[in-house]
Formats: sequence, C-alpha cells, structure tokens
Amino acid sequence: MPVVEALSACKTYGNGTHALAPTDFTLQPGEFVSLIGPSGCGKSTLLKLVAGLIEPSDGRLQWWRSGQLPRGAAPAGKRLAFVFQEATLMPWASVEANVRLPLDLQHVPRDEAAERVGRALAQVGLSRYARHKPRELSGGMQMRVSIARALVTDPDLLLMDEPFGALDEITRNRLDDELRQLWAERGLSVMFVTHSVYEAAFLSSRVVVMAARPGRIVHELTLDAPGMAE
Ligand code: ADP
Ligand code: ADP
Repeated sequence: MPVVEALSACKTYGNGTHALAPTDFTLQPGEFVSLIGPSGCGKSTLLKLVAGLIEPSDGRLQWWRSGQLPRGAAPAGKRLAFVFQEATLMPWASVEANVRLPLDLQHVPRDEAAERVGRALAQVGLSRYARHKPRELSGGMQMRVSIARALVTDPDLLLMDEPFGALDEITRNRLDDELRQLWAERGLSVMFVTHSVYEAAFLSSRVVVMAARPGRIVHELTLDAPGMAE
C-alpha cells in the first residue's frame, strides 16, 4: 500500500498562479524520492500538498491509514515530519528543548521525552551539545538539530524542502551522507526537494523531474536504492 498518493491533484493559488497542473504521484514505503526542477515548477507546492499544509484546488490526496483527507485537514501529525530550508529553531531554548518541542506538544511524559530526545540527538551526532543554544552551533549543526526534531516524532514520512540549500558544499555533502545512512537504517519514506542534480542522484531511489508554467512532473527515474548498493 502506498504511503501517499496524489490523484490528479492540482493547485492554483488565490492570485491565479497555476502552481501545479493535475498531477499523479505515488510514494511507496521506504522510497527516497527527490524532486528536482527549476525555481517555480511546483516542488514546494507538491510537498505542501502531501503534508496537508495546503489543499488541492482539484483532485485529491489519498493517505494510507487515514484514507482520503477531508478538505483542509492535515494528516495525523505524528506520522510525518517537515524540515525546511532554515533550521527554524527557537533561539532562546537549548538544543534539547528545541528537539523536545514536538513531544511537549503531544504531552509525551517527561522521562519518555528525555529518552527519545537523547536518542534523536545521538543519531545526528549532537549528544554533547544538548545544553547549548542554537547560536553557539554552526549552520550544519543547526540543521542537524532540525533533523533531530523531525526524527524524534518517529515519522513514517520525512518531507524536506531544500534542507541543505543554505549550507556550504562540504557541510552539505556530509549531511547528505548522514541522511542517506539514516534513511537506510530506519526504512523511512522521504520526499526531498533540491536544486542539485548531484544531490538527487546521490540520495534517491527515485528522482522526479518537474518543469514550470504550469508546474508538472515531466519525468521519473528509478535508481538503485543507494542504501542497498553498498
Ligand atoms: P520556495 O521553497 O519558497 O518555493 P524557491 O525554491 O522558489 O523557494 O526558491 C528559494 C530561493 O532559491 C529563492 O531565493 C530563489 O530565487 C532561489 N532559487 C530558486 N530556484 C533556483 C535555481 N534554479 N537556481 C538558483 N537559485 C534558485
Ligand atoms: P518551487 O518550489 O519549485 O520553486 P513553488 O511550488 O514554490 O515552486 O511555486 C510554484 C509557483 O507557485 C511559482 O510560480 C510560485 O511563485 C507560486 N507560488 C508559490 N506559493 C504561492 C502562494 N502562496 N501564493 C501565490 N503563488 C505562489
């Protein structure tokens, strides 16, 4: 059963912009799908539709388990996590408190939350920085905190919108390596927006190529699953 399926889903924004022509898209469990294409081709729009952050103008999104989304309703928050281009951390709170935020919102008991935060920080190699403030960390480390905050909810689906786009190339390559490993270990499904063909080819089990005006999928390439190639 697919994780999520878009059936002729399209999006025209309030100002009349046709961001996404009617689109069919299916994500299978454990896939790492990259969306590439020029600016404005609807990559973010497709990601936001899948996340339930916006609703399709026509067509629909079919979710595993929860079934078809009622108009305007987001899928059960626990099963997906969104990582944005900026780390979007609370500057006044410690790394630990930032990662704990989604668990606090779900009223997860203190001890359990502490254990899960510890595990998530270990997974991104930041155990030593739990008590630090975000500003004391480099850009790459801040992005790792943001990934830990996504992983702590134990999502089935990780949606990432150009997460490493603002980082220098060395840091970005390192995070690509780490992400690929996390994906292989955890059997997550991932949708990853990037401008980098290299990154898409390196990370993905499938690359979805989009074009603009109107935004649409023009090509899909299935690659060997990198996690299994080694
Ligand atoms: P959003 O996630 O809001 O849709 P975009 O992907 O449109 O953002 O663009 C994010 C930033 O990257 C913008 O400043 C945009 O000008 C820039 N940008 C978008 N596409 C490209 C590209 N192909 N090459 C270089 N810069 C780009
Ligand atoms: P990408 O992520 O590939 O850069 P987007 O999905 O962000 O593309 O945008 C697709 C098109 O929709 C672009 O022309 C963009 O300017 C437009 N767009 C995106 N968000 C909005 C919005 N909230 N309101 C109006 N137009 C938007």
